[in-house]
Amino acid sequence: MFEQQEHKKITFIGGGNMARSIIGGLIKRGYPAKLISVTAPTDRTRERMADDFGVNTFEDNAKGANDADVVVLAVKPQLLDVVCERLVADMGGHGDKLYLSIAAGVPLEKLRTYLSGAPRIVRSMPNTPSLLGLGMTGLYAPAGAKNEDKMLCQGLMEAVGKIVWVEEEAGINHVIAAAGSAPAYFFLFMEAIQKEAENMGFDAETARELVQQTALGAAQMVTESTLSFSTLRAQVTSKGGTTAEAIRTFEEGALSELVAKAMRAAVDRADEMA
Ligand code: NAD
Repeated sequence: MFEQQEHKKITFIGGGNMARSIIGGLIKRGYPAKLISVTAPTDRTRERMADDFGVNTFEDNAKGANDADVVVLAVKPQLLDVVCERLVADMGGHGDKLYLSIAAGVPLEKLRTYLSGAPRIVRSMPNTPSLLGLGMTGLYAPAGAKNEDKMLCQGLMEAVGKIVWVEEEAGINHVIAAAGSAPAYFFLFMEAIQKEAENMGFDAETARELVQQTALGAAQMVTESTLSFSTLRAQVTSKGGTTAEAIRTFEEGALSELVAKAMRAAVDRADEMA
């Protein structure tokens, strides 16, 4: 995607885990390091960024962002108001730059207030597997956003995995329920299988390996197949067999309803936090 368009100057405000992952992904895709800047308050973070990726680093956010085309807001959500307000004050305005927020749970309206009415803001909601380049990110841009801005933000987040656009901002909270929080659902399921495998007599290490390799295999089967999840499930569920008994037990316990309830609870919490 980046090959087709002029490379823009990108500044990351904050050089933490998520910024590192995106920058690492961009560099791997051939994005010129000299067009990327990172701001961070600590020497160590700046040194690591410069050593590992050859990007420009700044202690001062405004100095780092002044000549950027795109500013990626990559600090913790609770710092965003102070950091943005200071940034626009020091730059003497929002500079009509494109701002991409990766902060969880901060609505566009608040971002716009913090950024002194900046008109070009895109929100994204990545999840933790982004740190491995296997992320699933939701993106939202308000009606009227320029296609060029949207494509640029899409390209940035595709550096750490796959993306999906949501039409309404509320959809970002649905992405949280289906992807942002969802790695933990799978971990919970894995924990439960591991625990019972241990109860059956496997040592902890073996139980973990049984679960881990099976989860990896299942995810890979899904990835390589075009079949629906339920068809894949049916294919490994012989009538009257062991898997059928296990699935029947899950159904008796209304697993699907419980998952739906959990996802709705995640959305409700995200709405409350906004
Ligand atoms: P992190 O704590 O690893 O990084 C935050 C960075 O901000 C640090 O490098 C810190 O030095 C820097 N920082 C602190 N104060 C600053 C200031 N005044 N000016 C400039 N930089 C400053 O956090 P992270 O995990 O990279 O998360 C960053 C954002 O990404 C958060 O808003 C979070 O909600 C969002 N996010 C992260 C994940 C994830 O998987 N890690 C998933 C979804 C969303």
